[in-house]
Amino acid sequence: MSHYYEILGLGDRVFDSALSEQDVKLAYRRALLEHHPDKITRAAASSKPAVTVDDIALAYRTLADPEVRAEYDRSLLQSAPNGAKQDRVLRTGLETVDLDSLAFEDNVQAWSRSCRCGDTKGFVITETELEKHIEDGELTVGCKGCSLWLRVLFSVEN
Ligand SMILES: [Zn+2]
Repeated sequence: MSHYYEILGLGDRVFDSALSEQDVKLAYRRALLEHHPDKITRAAASSKPAVTVDDIALAYRTLADPEVRAEYDRSLLQSAPNGAKQDRVLRTGLETVDLDSLAFEDNVQAWSRSCRCGDTKGFVITETELEKHIEDGELTVGCKGCSLWLRVLFSVEN
């Protein structure tokens, strides 16, 4: 079964956090033209699985909404059939940033960062959490507002 990114011709942009709603909209229009019933008479003879206008609409509705898309990304992660693929997916699915790029707030003694879902403080890391991972030099934090993850790298200065 083709997944929604492939249906919209975005197969190489799975988990790409730079993929905007505008990109999705353009891909949707392109896919609609490509799979228009009047135009697929020749393609129908090929062995390619048929993509219907309903599939395209569903793919668009899923990917155009950041929260629904995050949920869908997570389901893709979970359904990855084997370790190798899971590994690839995990590497591309996680955004990795430096602790320096997070804002530190004195009043709560925690770092925060906005998320693609629109939550301006979706990712929060407290000093306590940071201390727990101090030997790893990195930690992974989940968004409070959706199911996206962020990997944060930090180094300790002695
Ligand atoms: Zn989020």
